[in-house]
Amino acid sequence: MLIIIHGFKTTLLVACLTVAVFLGLTTTSAAAAAKTPSWGHWDSTKITYTYDGSSKYYRSVWKTAVKKWNRTGIVKLKAVSSVKKADVVLESSASLSTKTGLLSGYTNYSYVHKEEDNEIVSATSTLNRGLLTSFQYTKTQRMNVATHELGHALGLSHSKSSKSVMYPTNRYANISHQDKVALDKAYHS
Ligand SMILES: [Zn+2]
Repeated sequence: MLIIIHGFKTTLLVACLTVAVFLGLTTTSAAAAAKTPSWGHWDSTKITYTYDGSSKYYRSVWKTAVKKWNRTGIVKLKAVSSVKKADVVLESSASLSTKTGLLSGYTNYSYVHKEEDNEIVSATSTLNRGLLTSFQYTKTQRMNVATHELGHALGLSHSKSSKSVMYPTNRYANISHQDKVALDKAYHS
């Protein structure tokens, strides 16, 4: 889907996280050291967000993901009171209708392509409550999924390393050193 903002061509994309059903089959030690790729960045390291939902449980899951990225010292996510004011919208859905199978979460984002850079202009990250419950994710694992989706919203892409929070089927990994390196590079180069 394409939308036009200020004369730039803005591309709306969806990144997602699938449930780790076959975990362990694709991991190698070489992949574990893989760099985390990035696809873009916001125009500032100060990024606003809001939680759009009524569940206190998911509010706290998202709040932990925000804290984790803020703790890297690279970005500063700041809560605002409404979706209108927010750069990033965080939410959960009772079930996601997907064509591609079992998604524990997904992120919709749009960006403007500038020279060799992509500037992110909006992002919405969603957690699939029904699936996280049916696959018996613990709260910590749900926080890892939320951190993965927020990583997409900040500009990171999927990593081949199972130690990266950006591993495509991540359930167990937290933010890795390579994830921090990638975020720093996206915002300071
Ligand atoms: Zn993903």
